[in-house]
Amino acid sequence: MSAIVFDHVNKYFGNARAVDDAHFKIEEGEFFTLLGPSGCGKTTLLRTIAGFYRQEEGNLYFGSDIINDVPTHERNIGMVFQNYAIFPHMTVFENVCYGLKARKVPKDEMRARALEALEMVELSHLKDRVPSNMSGGQQQRIALARAIVIRPGLLLMDEPLSNLDAKLRVKMRSDIRRVQKELNITTVYVTHDQEEALAVSDRIAVLNEGRIQQIATPAEIYAYPQNRFVANFIGTSNFITVSVQMSGNEAGEARVGVLGTEVTLPLARAYSGEGVLSLRPEWIKLSTDRPAGPSLTGTVETVTYLGEKTVYDVRLSADTTIQVQEHALEPDQAKHSGQMIYIDLRLEKATLFDGSGEEVLY
Ligand code: ATP
Repeated sequence: MSAIVFDHVNKYFGNARAVDDAHFKIEEGEFFTLLGPSGCGKTTLLRTIAGFYRQEEGNLYFGSDIINDVPTHERNIGMVFQNYAIFPHMTVFENVCYGLKARKVPKDEMRARALEALEMVELSHLKDRVPSNMSGGQQQRIALARAIVIRPGLLLMDEPLSNLDAKLRVKMRSDIRRVQKELNITTVYVTHDQEEALAVSDRIAVLNEGRIQQIATPAEIYAYPQNRFVANFIGTSNFITVSVQMSGNEAGEARVGVLGTEVTLPLARAYSGEGVLSLRPEWIKLSTDRPAGPSLTGTVETVTYLGEKTVYDVRLSADTTIQVQEHALEPDQAKHSGQMIYIDLRLEKATLFDGSGEEVLY
């Protein structure tokens, strides 16, 4: 088992750069997720780790070894793909034994290891069945057992849950996480589903157009997105254009004009001009009574009741509507459409980007 290091890696298809200067480290035993929209380069990065692709520039390390030219079968990796890729005519047990047979593992050991892997994925009771009439979730468990039975140093998973229905995805992702923790195996996981990434990962790398936008824990990425792309891709954000004017004092404070009100915020660097505030819907507070401090007013436009939460679209001005989320309330506390409301944006929780959305100012 080892850490994986990308050292200024670039991968091209023709003139198009699919991986743009990847420079990061995946720690030993870590559950590391590559997350981003379709075409952002997730699979290309994963396939470079697997050795299916060779990068044109930069080095790839497993631990302290450069493995640029080490073929896939010598990289000691287990893989799970979206389409299961299991053998339909073999029994579950034979499927799991396949990689051990190829490695000429003695029969007794092979049997013990296959049973142990099946136990881990909770499939022992189906070991003599053939997979063709089994559910997608069960087939994916076979694929997972087959990947871990060879005791790889590294587990690579490319959208393993995409073919499963929503409920099963939630169950399977916690099973995958449990197996990964039990084996303490370095795992690289590809998904375009931000909720899945938040749920399973130790750390997430958010990618866009071949470039890594941010690498951090799920909680850090959610609370402190490093640019507007990340704030928009992970969770829901309200973006409000504001004016920023440095106060000229030593604290680096700036006056920020938000929808006709003005607040003072300490900025990370000197900046004046247009800015973009990013606010999570569940951080904003609505109230029917006028709060003590400065507040905005708005009108509730739509109310969407979702059981454990209620989502409101609130109009603040002719061209600004925000989304606000409240946890379950007593029915008589819910707001109704058309209602005038006071809004506390809770700017202490907000992120302020520069006008380009590329840099965090606050
Ligand atoms: P998806 O979620 O849709 O699978 P992805 O994030 O995994 O997308 P990649 O498959 O890594 O993205 O593709 C990254 C870029 O490289 C895309 O622009 C894609 O069109 C291009 N690309 C990927 N594989 C090839 C290939 N074999 N030949 C040419 N271009 C490719």
